[in-house]
Amino acid sequence: MKIYLNGNLVEEEDAKVSVFDHGYLYGDGVFEGIRAYNGLVFRLDEHLDRLYSSAHTIMLSISLTKEEIKEALLETLRANDLKDAYIRLIVSRGQGDLGLDPRKCKSPTTVIIADKIALYPQEFYEKGLDIITVPTRRNITEAVNPQIKSLNYLNNIMAKIEAINCGYEEAIMLNNEGYVVECSGDNISILSDSKLYTPPDHLGALKGITQAAVAGLAKKMGIGIVQEVFSRHDIYNAQECFLTGTAAEIIPVVKVDGRAIGSGGPGEVTLQLIKDYRNLTKSEGISAY
Ligand code: PMP
Repeated sequence: MKIYLNGNLVEEEDAKVSVFDHGYLYGDGVFEGIRAYNGLVFRLDEHLDRLYSSAHTIMLSISLTKEEIKEALLETLRANDLKDAYIRLIVSRGQGDLGLDPRKCKSPTTVIIADKIALYPQEFYEKGLDIITVPTRRNITEAVNPQIKSLNYLNNIMAKIEAINCGYEEAIMLNNEGYVVECSGDNISILSDSKLYTPPDHLGALKGITQAAVAGLAKKMGIGIVQEVFSRHDIYNAQECFLTGTAAEIIPVVKVDGRAIGSGGPGEVTLQLIKDYRNLTKSEGISAY
């Protein structure tokens, strides 16, 4: 596998980063997870916009322009002869010393890994997921805003560990007031009164690119889109519930904290959205070839 590392495509064995890199020492950096479908990179501009916004907020200046990163990413896909891929784009603060001071890091480390996608089990999509709410709250926006897709995912990892400890695959995270925010690695939506509800941005979810694409598809189906706070009670009594994310795409949720959602199986609207999303990813994107 060829990896893009600071301007060069190198073999996997040679793709090495310093132990003094502040991405490693402190989680000081930002990243994106991106998908390519049959040579078309889905919503690449949106991913790059989010990467640059995250970097801007943490005052990390990416050494490449968006156009240059785009070209490097497409080149990495081509170098690995990949058409269907999961692409990880990482920009860390770079090599510094053992202190926190980012001024010691003279240039950021830029890495692009294009790999085959490790698909989630088909069963998740057909039968739907049974998930739980966990005690760890989503980081408050006044600390490190979760809209920054940073290399520090401990908040999410804690939630994931709590779900795994209880024998579940995914965790719903609440904010400090008990409103639903998102899952450990995916956004959450519910269908209620035949409208699609997603938590408002200020609650502290990552602004999902998949969720935005799915909202666009739902709108085309004539479904109203509402950004409004909702609680666990609202999920338990929703008609449908699903998760969205670049890797997961759309996964139906059929049970939450032991309560069956809607019919107890994947909802009709969710299944339609899964189909429409698959068609969208086939037909839209920036071509690598
Ligand atoms: N929330 C979190 C915490 C995530 O890490 C991700 C990405 N895996 C998402 C939501 C979904 O975002 P996107 O649709 O842009 O991949």
